[in-house]
Parts: sequence; structure tokens; C-alpha cells
Amino acid sequence: MAYVYDEQNIFAKILRGEIPNKTVLETEHALAFHDIQPQAPVHVLVIPKGPYVCYDHFALEASDAEIVGFNRAVGEVCKMLEIQPGEGGDGYRVISNAGENGVQEVPHLHVHVLGGRWLGRMLKKAD
Ligand code: AMP
Repeated sequence: MAYVYDEQNIFAKILRGEIPNKTVLETEHALAFHDIQPQAPVHVLVIPKGPYVCYDHFALEASDAEIVGFNRAVGEVCKMLEIQPGEGGDGYRVISNAGENGVQEVPHLHVHVLGGRWLGRMLKKAD
């Protein structure tokens, strides 16, 4: 079943300028902004500008330029936030939730860049 993109999702509205955001970085192919409900001292969302629902949708259907541009933006954000372990930063975690099991709330691809504190193990044990 092909993905159907909802043009009314909140990140689409942010990209159209209908809802404000606290921008960290904007490039040709990506927008990075602070999460409205941060779960760590650093909590930035990076989204592609194109209409992609989740990570596999983007990875399989976006153009090479979009994929490179998006990933470079993630790298730039890590650099701007000074969290790169290779440059003396304390490290970070990149997460992208997808679908029901991934508990994705907003159906526009986003990666969470989290840092600024020790983040614990990646997953809780299943209940
Ligand atoms: P996910 O559960 O991976 O879909 O995450 C969606 C994220 O979007 C959550 O961390 C929300 O806090 C965040 N979010 C929702 N609305 C906004 C908004 N208007 N500006 C910034 N972040 C938002």
C-alpha cells in the first residue's frame, strides 16, 4: 500500500509558514526546529521539505539531492548544537518514529536529535 501524505499535518503547516516554529536551521531541502515539548536539554526536530510520511518512504522515494540535503542538515544541526562526540561534545541520539509500533504522532518524516544529558539505554524492556 502506497503512502498517502496528509497536507494538513502540523509539520506541513510549519513548512507553509502557517504555524510558527523556533528554527535552528533552514536549507534547500530541510528545516530544523526546537521540539515544542523537549524531552532533553537538546531536542531538535529535522524534517525534509518534501511530502514524505516516514523514514522508509523518504529513503526509498526521495531524490538523491533531497536525501543528501536532509542528512547534511542533521549533521549541521549536531555541529551547531556542539554535541558531536568527535569534536569534544557529549554525544546525542537520533530517533525517527514510524507508524503504530514506532508511536509516530506527526505523519511527516522527522528525526529527533536529542542530547544535553545522559539518555539511558535505547529502549525500555517490553511490558
Ligand atoms: P513523533 O511522536 O515522533 O511523531 O514526534 C512528534 C514530535 O513533534 C513530538 O515530540 C512533539 O512534541 C513535536 N511537536 C508537535 N507539534 C509541534 C510544533 N508545533 N512545534 C514543534 N514540535 C512539535
